Formats: sequence, structure tokens, C-alpha cells
Amino acid sequence: MSTESLRIVWIYPDLLSTYGDRGNVLILARRAQLRGLPVEVLEVRSDQRLPATADIYLVGGGEDGPQALGAQRLLADGGLHRAVAQGSVVFGVCAGYQLLGTSFFAKGTKCAGLELLDISSDRGPTRAVGELAGEVDPRLGIPYLTGFENHGGRTHLGRGVSPLARVTAGVGNDGVTEGAWRGKLLGTYSHGPALARNPALADLLLRWATGIHQLPALDDTWADRLRSERRAAVAAARA
Ligand code: GLN
Repeated sequence: MSTESLRIVWIYPDLLSTYGDRGNVLILARRAQLRGLPVEVLEVRSDQRLPATADIYLVGGGEDGPQALGAQRLLADGGLHRAVAQGSVVFGVCAGYQLLGTSFFAKGTKCAGLELLDISSDRGPTRAVGELAGEVDPRLGIPYLTGFENHGGRTHLGRGVSPLARVTAGVGNDGVTEGAWRGKLLGTYSHGPALARNPALADLLLRWATGIHQLPALDDTWADRLRSERRAAVAAARA
């Protein structure tokens, strides 16, 4: 942690918050506080400078127009690049995931991404809308991922990243893999409730940010139950 409190920045809620992304900020802050970690949450609008000294940055989902504008402003600002160079954690969701890569498409135009992750996105034949689930990279120590997706883009992973999960339901990147991660940067197509539905993912970000490997367990009964139900439903549908 950079200071006495864990500093969480929610990037551009005025542009990139189409799918309840505030929920991810709330879950992250709450789970840190329940472990006795003081938390400071900063909401940085797209007309403000991005502080480069926070511990965790959240970039949410968005329509094509706000996504393109958000990427332009983040590139011009440079704060996120400085933060990543200093070891900050970044969590990107959908549009926020795509714009971390080298390029993405918005309104039919190829747009430059931030080149923080070795991924590129183009458009798929259909819009991917519905439940998304998958088996997570075992190195991350996270159980089965469940979520909801709504995107037109398809994402191609380069050698510099690993997939977050292998898809068992939905599309994710391309129907085979979902999300990507490298170092302390992680992106997913799983929307707004991603951290509510997958508290272990929130704890992974907290572990990366704090360096505390053994965070005290919390009562995740409801999230565990939802995950078991979804996993059983996906298995039944595939049988
Ligand atoms: N505009 C992007 C797409 O459709 C991202 C959408 C989103 O964030 N849900 O692929």
C-alpha cells in the first residue's frame, strides 16, 4: 500500500459506469474495511487529472462513444500508465477491459487503446448478451467465475497475457477464453456485479494491492450458494 490507507480510484464514473460498476467499488472498499484496512475511495471524472499514486484503479463498462472518449482522455492524461509503472493494481470490466489493450472498435472505428495489456479487440458476428461462466486460471486461487456479459467486441490475447478463465457458458473473449491478466492488471467481460458475485476476485485485487497473502475469511455464504447454483445449471445445460 502506498499510504496508511488503501487508495481506490474509480476511473471516469461519468463515462464508464453503464452497468452498475459502482458495485465493484463498494465491494472492494467494504471487504478491505472488514479486514481492518482503512480505505479512501476517489471518484475521478473524465475532466479531472488522474492521480498516479493510488493502490487500485477500477475501469468500468461503457457504450462505444464513452469508451472511445475515455480511452482518449486516459491516453492524454498518462496517470494510469505512471500508476502501473509504480505497481498499482488495475481492474477493467468490458469496455474498461478492452481499452487497456492495444486497440478496440467503437462505432465501426478502430481506436487506440492504452497498451497496458497485450490484447486487441474487434467486433464479433453477434452481440454477446447473457450469463458468462468459466473455470479460472488455477494460479489465481479463485473458484469458478460467474457473471453477466453484454458486448459486441471480441478480444484476442497476445503472448504477454494469460486468460482469466476457460469459458463454460457465454462468450467472454471469443467463446473459449474469458478475460485476461498480467502482473497486477486484470480484465473481464463480467459486468457490474463481478466482485459481488465473485468475492474471491475482490480479495485477489486486495492481496495484490496490500501484499497481505492471508486475508481473514469473510462470510460469503450467499455468493458461494449462487456460484454452486450457476455451476450446476451450466453443467446441466451442457450435459
Ligand atoms: N462497447 C463495447 C462493446 O460493445 C463494450 C461494451 C460494454 O462495456 N458492455 O464491445
